[in-house]
Amino acid sequence: MGKLIYLDNAATTKTSESVLQAMLPYFTECYGNASSIYSIGTKSKEAITKSRETIAATLGAKPEEIYFTAGGSESDNWALKATAEAYESKGKHIITSKIEHHAILHTCEYLEKRGYEVTYIDVDENGTVKLDQLEKAIRPDTILISIMYANNEIGTIQPIKEIGEIAKKHGVLFHTDAVQAYGQLPINVDECHIDMLSSSGHKLNGPKGIGFLYIRKGVKIRSFIHGGAQERKRRAGTENVPGIVGYGKAAQEAVDSMKERTAKEAELRDYLIDRVLAEIPYTRLNGHRTNRLPNNANFSFQFIEGESLLIMLDMEGICGSSGSACTSGSLDPSHVLMAIGLPHEIAHGSLRLTLGADTTKEDIDFVVEKVKGIVAKLRSMSPLYEDFVKKQK
Ligand SMILES: *Cc1c(COP(=O)(O)O)cnc(C)c1O
Repeated sequence: MGKLIYLDNAATTKTSESVLQAMLPYFTECYGNASSIYSIGTKSKEAITKSRETIAATLGAKPEEIYFTAGGSESDNWALKATAEAYESKGKHIITSKIEHHAILHTCEYLEKRGYEVTYIDVDENGTVKLDQLEKAIRPDTILISIMYANNEIGTIQPIKEIGEIAKKHGVLFHTDAVQAYGQLPINVDECHIDMLSSSGHKLNGPKGIGFLYIRKGVKIRSFIHGGAQERKRRAGTENVPGIVGYGKAAQEAVDSMKERTAKEAELRDYLIDRVLAEIPYTRLNGHRTNRLPNNANFSFQFIEGESLLIMLDMEGICGSSGSACTSGSLDPSHVLMAIGLPHEIAHGSLRLTLGADTTKEDIDFVVEKVKGIVAKLRSMSPLYEDFVKKQK
């Protein structure tokens, strides 16, 4: 097998070499516990402080509002469960959307089993949350609105500022899962009235197993992990110092390179989208045509199974992902593709390709040719397609 073309950067990214180099000393020479008073301990503590300051600055937040966690899922769980608990005397109603990541949706189900009520807002055919429905759903007992910044499957960017304004107007807390958006889009927590924000290191060329939850000063929130006094007594456990250092480095690099990198990615993304739609018949683009993450393309090809397409792409050294069946261990197509109104049979033929900083035009050309050939081959074996073609004649 030749070169690997990795177009699944929404699933995870490669840790960049400079991030790895920044982390290495904290495994070996500087292994001290940040709570210790001797100098290799204080070195760790200083590194954590620096990383926290770097990350806070990228969001227009204060360092003491950044709480390190073990990743996006933990941050999402924390934001929802701890708010539910801390504000339960005000009410037990939460608003979210139908296209959230499972870290949000399954946490909501957990809360529903414990007496909370959750309203799931619809999205339109582009995957944009319906703002009028959202505002109408707010009740006196609503304590939290949690809407993702940008969707991990179809890339649609949500009207976060407007949602923040609605939440503020009604005195409701606003949490956003920004795991896909952070490092791809400029984010300012004050401008968007964000009270809590989740992020994860491995989605922006940082290491796996590290994330943060931004919690605005003044938000009442409970500890998530009980134990030592780390993270201002809110999230106990000896800090993942190499992870935190790597995350700070990755965040800085992502923000520094954002303008140029995302412009290049968006250009290649549009080139990919235009070629696929023009050259492969009975194909649609999922998600908003323009208001989408710079690196995300998501297609549905009629008359084929996304799983078969992925397996055949893998044989060509191409990594992508689908929004259906086996990958998620269930037979249902993705809840996101259902929410934008795709019929089952079309959702099943979906392919998500998410570009990285080092994706080239040559990569895209190679991928388009391969996708074209494989889709044609799979269709030629499909009785549904055969029927369809006969009827066209
Ligand atoms: C990847 C992802 C998560 C989960 O993050 P982990 O760090 O893998 O736990 C949550 N939300 C979104 C939108 C994601 O893309």
